[in-house]
Amino acid sequence: MTFPDLADPDSVLAGMALLDVEYPGLFRWMGEVNLVKQALFESGHTAVPAGAIEEWNGFMEALRERGIPLAIHSDLGSDEEPTRYLPLMEEVLRRYPDNAIVWVHMGLSRELTTLDPQRHVALMTALLERHPKLMLDIAWRVIDDAYFSTPEGREAYVPFLNAFSERILPGTDFLASRDKDLDVYREELEITGRIHRELDDEAFRNIALGANYFRLLDLEYQAPAICPE
Ligand SMILES: [Zn+2]
Repeated sequence: MTFPDLADPDSVLAGMALLDVEYPGLFRWMGEVNLVKQALFESGHTAVPAGAIEEWNGFMEALRERGIPLAIHSDLGSDEEPTRYLPLMEEVLRRYPDNAIVWVHMGLSRELTTLDPQRHVALMTALLERHPKLMLDIAWRVIDDAYFSTPEGREAYVPFLNAFSERILPGTDFLASRDKDLDVYREELEITGRIHRELDDEAFRNIALGANYFRLLDLEYQAPAICPE
């Protein structure tokens, strides 16, 4: 369910009710939805007002009852102000501690490519420890381009991903559009998957082989075991 407008909470339950009639039981994931996305500012998007978050109760309760995760795109900030929008995500996590929430791209974006990796890891570590239902996704090539591909980045993120490997989801963030074809997909798949080679076996199984997705969505699949060397 990618339709929700988080600034207009009442419309979310209405949309879910419509899907219940048209496609009962089909949709098992909500998002990614935008809390704040600077890339869309020039198209008229604005950050969801903090005051709107407390009005999410109705649909957040419905998501909890159905075991549906909410995947949120919420920019951490920009190179000028790296944690400018952090309070928005903190407010969501504070108000809805029992919802499964996925913070997509770990809050990183094209507007934030120069954050110190150690600082980012410290911030993510604190949030994961404080909010047991929070998960992070590492989808989007921007993350590899700006962080995972540098020596300092790998030094900070590989131990972090290993330590919290049950809380990390992979992905390409590839989306279909007129200017993208199969070659672009292959390239983005390769780039977003590079970091998986650096993981330890347990983290590789949890993240790259899908164990975390199966657990999060309560799917009856098992990630394959890692072969002994
Ligand atoms: Zn996104």
